[in-house]
Amino acid sequence: MLNPRILISINPATLEKVGQVKATPIGEISKKVEAARKAYYSWKQVTLKERVKILRRMQQLLLERSEDIAKLITAEMGRPYTESLVIELQASVDLMGYCASQANRLLRDRPLHLHHLLFKRRKSLLDIQPLGVMGIITPWNWPLLIPLGFILPAILSGNAVVFKPSELTPLVGEEIRKICIDAGIPEGVFQLVQGPGSAGKALVSSGVNKIFFTGSTSVGRHVMEQASHSLINVVLELGGSDPAIVCEDVDIENATSGIVWGTMNNCGQNCNSIERVYVHQSVSDEFINRVIQKIQKLKIGEGMALSTDMGPLASAKQLKKVKEFIHQTKRKGAEILFGGKAISHLHGYYFQPTVILWNKMIPILPEEEIFGPVMIVTPVEDIQKAIELANQSHFGLSASVWTRDLKQGEWIANQLETGSVMINDSVVSFGVPEASWTGVKNSGIGWVHGDKGFDEMVNIQHIHVDPQYHSQKFWWFPYSEKMMLGLRAGLVFLFHKNIFKKLKAVPLVLKSFSSYLLVNRRKKDKI
Ligand code: NDP
Repeated sequence: MLNPRILISINPATLEKVGQVKATPIGEISKKVEAARKAYYSWKQVTLKERVKILRRMQQLLLERSEDIAKLITAEMGRPYTESLVIELQASVDLMGYCASQANRLLRDRPLHLHHLLFKRRKSLLDIQPLGVMGIITPWNWPLLIPLGFILPAILSGNAVVFKPSELTPLVGEEIRKICIDAGIPEGVFQLVQGPGSAGKALVSSGVNKIFFTGSTSVGRHVMEQASHSLINVVLELGGSDPAIVCEDVDIENATSGIVWGTMNNCGQNCNSIERVYVHQSVSDEFINRVIQKIQKLKIGEGMALSTDMGPLASAKQLKKVKEFIHQTKRKGAEILFGGKAISHLHGYYFQPTVILWNKMIPILPEEEIFGPVMIVTPVEDIQKAIELANQSHFGLSASVWTRDLKQGEWIANQLETGSVMINDSVVSFGVPEASWTGVKNSGIGWVHGDKGFDEMVNIQHIHVDPQYHSQKFWWFPYSEKMMLGLRAGLVFLFHKNIFKKLKAVPLVLKSFSSYLLVNRRKKDKI
């Protein structure tokens, strides 16, 4: 029988045990939040310079430990080591450098230049303050880069963090904790909760100030509903079913390589993996032939072999989900052009890279993402139709457009209802730290990365200063007819288009303004 107090991490390629961690008892989670809050009060007093120094140390530690952590990612969730190191580790180290370099710009006070005549002598600024304790819940599919996207700006902004990784990748979660602590983040400021979904659920109601959730749309809905009870804010980075639009003028050799990679890397388990391809019918036969030729050459196997292109799915649950999807699409009349089955001679959760032809002009809309190595190809008579089909999904995470005509590419991007669009590439835009990332429709709420990702971590407090502390404002009590007439004339003077009406208002404005100045002069004299 499974021990609920222990989480065992299993290698999906071999089904062997990678290691184990203690699960956090549910009753301990709110205590961790309390401890984080205690630590937060001191942490927010630490200078930004010091926090940046710690982040730079974290970056060096991650670099030193990169090979071991990349191996651990491969062992826990199956993606090829090359991807773990070259894509996930590299992007994470880069993200650390980016956050450290931008912290000063993004976290210092922002002065406002007030345009209103009445406020010309006042000072207004946006004061950037931490929010408190941030609850961060993340999935297994990018077990390092996704958590860091939240943890780094949270900590830099002066918040404390309670982080729950996926139960499939608890050991990578432990490594993140070690790097934070070894770099000098006080223990209390970074708290780790290990456990299954129920631990995430408990974290949402444990008194944190904000929840950052990355995961499926269905769980995201529950998280938001639960958070609404305590009225805490949420950032939700949810599922996707990315379309790729292949234009008539495409460089077919390059686009087929790019789209095969965008569908099959990480065994199709990226939120922004390509799932649906709308290809102009004039090039669709050639497109399909080349895609199948390239897919046949993919080397499938254990991720630690350096020539492996595609590893297994991450869990038995994923394998079941992908099999079920194939079964359903076949029933709906889709044609499996390649693959479509689990690979039974390999020991882990392997599935064949699969190409499906869906040539009906109605969208094939999986209720949930496929989240596996499956490409659905639909030939279209023109690009307008491709755009229409791409937009019919209830997901709106990202998309890609494949064309030689970059202007046309940008025009198509503009028509797509997604958080981001890549032209002649896919997937990697999540690793561009300057670009704030979000989804529209059922793909999410709120931001991670870039300036907006930092803004999610802070209270942007408006401070408005009137240096003339002794002056009675004319909009204060007591109200009078004189005051009302003066203000009405002021409105006309400030905003009316007609210059004659503006001029006509001047005497009344001056009259009420001078009596207001007189009151203040008397007050000042008394002082
Ligand atoms: P899940 O929604 O199943 O889980 C996400 C995280 O939430 C895990 O840590 C999970 O714990 C935890 N969790 C589960 N139930 C609850 C609950 N009731 N309350 C709070 N937390 C809970 O997603 P997956 O882990 O399967 O990840 C894949 C999904 O993530 C895909 O839909 C993918 O598109 C999406 N994703 C979105 C991204 C984006 O940027 N938009 C980026 C990457 C992935 P446990 O794992 O221990 O069960």
